[in-house]
Amino acid sequence: MINETMYGLGAEPSAIRELFAYGLARKAEIGSDKVFDFSIGNPSVPAPAKVAETMHELADMPPAELHAYSAASGLDSARQAIANNLNKRFGTSYASGDLYLTMGAAACLSACIRATVDPGDEVIVIAPYFPEYRVWIEAAQGVCVEVPARTDNFQIDIDALSAAITTRTKAVIINSPNNPVGVVYTRETLEQLAALLNDKSNEHGEPIFLISDEPYRELAYDGIEVPWVPAIYNNTLVCYSWSKSLSLPGDRIGYVLVPNEMNDANRVKKAVAGAGRSLGYVCAPVFFQRVIEKCVDEPTNTEAYASNRALLTEGLDKLGYHYIAPDGAFYLWVQALEPDAQAFSDKAKRHELLLVPSDSFGVTGWVRVSYCISEDTIRNSMPAFRALKQEYEGE
Ligand code: PLP
Repeated sequence: MINETMYGLGAEPSAIRELFAYGLARKAEIGSDKVFDFSIGNPSVPAPAKVAETMHELADMPPAELHAYSAASGLDSARQAIANNLNKRFGTSYASGDLYLTMGAAACLSACIRATVDPGDEVIVIAPYFPEYRVWIEAAQGVCVEVPARTDNFQIDIDALSAAITTRTKAVIINSPNNPVGVVYTRETLEQLAALLNDKSNEHGEPIFLISDEPYRELAYDGIEVPWVPAIYNNTLVCYSWSKSLSLPGDRIGYVLVPNEMNDANRVKKAVAGAGRSLGYVCAPVFFQRVIEKCVDEPTNTEAYASNRALLTEGLDKLGYHYIAPDGAFYLWVQALEPDAQAFSDKAKRHELLLVPSDSFGVTGWVRVSYCISEDTIRNSMPAFRALKQEYEGE
């Protein structure tokens, strides 16, 4: 009667969403100041004032214009403004036609996967990874192949990746700055990755695509470099969104960039447009296309996240937790105090600490702690982190 795979996806909420929903219910029950919700990546920094100003200005446009459809790939003026912004920052010469606007990085990624993958093709993800990658790959009838990151610093394990590449490998998805680990891939890592993919592409006689998922591009701390991936590997599709950088997650706006340096770039652009068409991802919300056209040069406010990062890591240092020092995004990857991350997360819940177990990201033994929350929540959570640690020490 219905598609059982789709039923399964709809009926089972993701672990992150489930914990988030639990948090909302628990806050209603005992008060929001008593629940320390580190579950979700909803930016706590407000969107820049210029966004609201632009929205007010746009509201005065003639309704027929404001609410009209754009081209499937987006307004030419908005795409040109984005291309100009990239060209200024990365010394490139992109044009509006290199961009396909769509509804956040989620839609960008599923369009890129759909555009490149034939049934049975393999797409490699670096574990731990954003859980929806598997959903999108399998929806395209691809096979999701997990390659664990290096365990010392969570950079890409190039040897492990090399061993996982087969003649069916169509693409590799990377995400830097990374959710859930907070790692930023170094230039050296990306150069090694590019060398490997170039070698393997030559061996196969066709390119392996690199899909670079970049919603956290601007969220990097202490001046660390976030290298521009297409400058390192030609066959890179960039998936970007303003969900995090301008705090617009509910407005569903982002882009796919297909650089002209890519093999058969014009065909790939058409395939992305075709994938968008097949998925119904045409004409991204026009109001927000126009907002982005005006606000694309707004800087990202990383201050609050940087200070949350310091507060959280200093607090956990004092309590003796082990974590991976994050260079970007707004997540801390903390080692669970027992091998079973789900059991650890359940115990944390009893202290009103909502920590996402690592199993949903494809690895065991860790939890993700989102620090895009209020400073007070972080500060007030420390006694709960202490009690949780003591519970284990007492065993
Ligand atoms: N990729 C990663 C790594 C994410 O963390 C997220 C959202 O949290 C997305 C993609 C989807 O982002 P968007 O809101 O732009 O669809």
